[in-house]
Amino acid sequence: MVLRTLLAAALLLAAPLLPANPAGAAPAAKAGPVALACTGYVALTYDDGPNAQYTRALLTALRSAGARATFFDLGSRVQQQPQVTREVVQAGMWVGNHSWSHPYLTNLGAAAVARELGDTQNAIRGATGQAPTLFRPPYGATNATVQAEARKLGLTQVTWSVDSQDWNGASTDAIVRAATGASAGGIVLMHAGYQTTVDAVPRIVQGLAARNLCPGRIDGSGRVVAP
Ligand SMILES: [Zn+2]
Repeated sequence: MVLRTLLAAALLLAAPLLPANPAGAAPAAKAGPVALACTGYVALTYDDGPNAQYTRALLTALRSAGARATFFDLGSRVQQQPQVTREVVQAGMWVGNHSWSHPYLTNLGAAAVARELGDTQNAIRGATGQAPTLFRPPYGATNATVQAEARKLGLTQVTWSVDSQDWNGASTDAIVRAATGASAGGIVLMHAGYQTTVDAVPRIVQGLAARNLCPGRIDGSGRVVAP
């Protein structure tokens, strides 16, 4: 809602500046508001799905807020519910690799790490038609072996700059406060598993917009950019 309001306001502001030539007017009206509204981007990320209940609720909340997010999925859960991961992509979101079984990858040898990541690549590719390019190690636990195996699969490792603590019983207010405190270029850790996290979505997007920050995409070098 807020994004739409901002867009509408920006369109009104932009209208008098539009050239008289109608051929030039349409692109200007489309490009203007985005540049005016977003001076930086923050990545909203949701781990540990797919989850039939909460992943779908997050998709609904994100879409009505006009936001896109990254879902770091577990291969074992993708295998059980490929349709939910497919819906994430169909909703315009991004899917990353969060390992197969959520172990501390730092406790595993290279071959086991390769299986955790490779099997998950295959499951997500099977579900969506696309293999992920981003990978988040469970618990943020990583080492040289984990990073080398990820690189072999073309995966960029992504951790986070803000932990919402939703996994630790944080209230919706606390999740909103944490996420809206992110700086431009920040990455917010959340999970597809809590109603508090779902309820936080509209207020997070609103709070970021008040600071001219918009939800963004994590690119192949791990930077947060325009979606
Ligand atoms: Zn996790």
